[in-house]
Amino acid sequence: MNKIYIGTNWKMHKSLKEAREYTTALKSFFINFPYHIELFIIPPFTALTEMKEILKDSPILLGAQNMHWEDEGPFTGEISPIHLSEIGVQLVELGHSERREYFNENDSSINKKVKAALKHQIQPLICIGENREQKDIGITNEILSIQLKTILHKIELLSSNDVMIAYEPRWAIGEKGQCADPQYIQNTHQFIRQLLNELYPSIGYSIPIIYGGSVNTENALPILGLNHVNGLFIGRSAWNLTSFKEILNQVK
Ligand code: PGA
Repeated sequence: MNKIYIGTNWKMHKSLKEAREYTTALKSFFINFPYHIELFIIPPFTALTEMKEILKDSPILLGAQNMHWEDEGPFTGEISPIHLSEIGVQLVELGHSERREYFNENDSSINKKVKAALKHQIQPLICIGENREQKDIGITNEILSIQLKTILHKIELLSSNDVMIAYEPRWAIGEKGQCADPQYIQNTHQFIRQLLNELYPSIGYSIPIIYGGSVNTENALPILGLNHVNGLFIGRSAWNLTSFKEILNQVK
């Protein structure tokens, strides 16, 4: 059975107490879930250590929201792959649209981060997506192609699980966002799949591509049913554990 990847990025939300309560409850809820559902949580850095402890005997994976590409150095305010490895973080989210918009992240720096993550056996969750203007002009595929080719430039992958791709149209994310329609998601995922096949002829067909951007309890299952959609990356609808559980129960 094909794996289904479901994850949540908490962004700059939740106190330590909230993180503890959420994680403990989600862990017991997830105990009898089928093996093919891979679940991951990406909290703020400050919650990682405690959450790792809570999740030590659980299949739920833990991720970080960003990292620097250097192992160490004079980079005040940054977190290195070594710091993340030390905690036992299994994946790292790279290139989220908010990082690109507010912190000047670009495809070349994301490329360095992907290399660093792979070197430290941390799975990069690579976020790509066009903005509204690019969509309206009709250059979504060109943008995705430039993003993916730059981010994966000179990166060899040994297995399809070395990386995960999150397609998140920027105009679909957050309060002001609106979920992309199913046909649009399907076409875009198909295009990303073609790109991955070109870049990695032997494993491109099975690199996970997940969708994010205003996923909720109503649209989660229909989106998951689309071709080349291997999972969901959820913000707001997963911060509330009740609605996240509802989505997970539907997927089960
Ligand atoms: P959203 O966030 O589900 O709240 O739109 C998605 C994301 O930023 O990954």
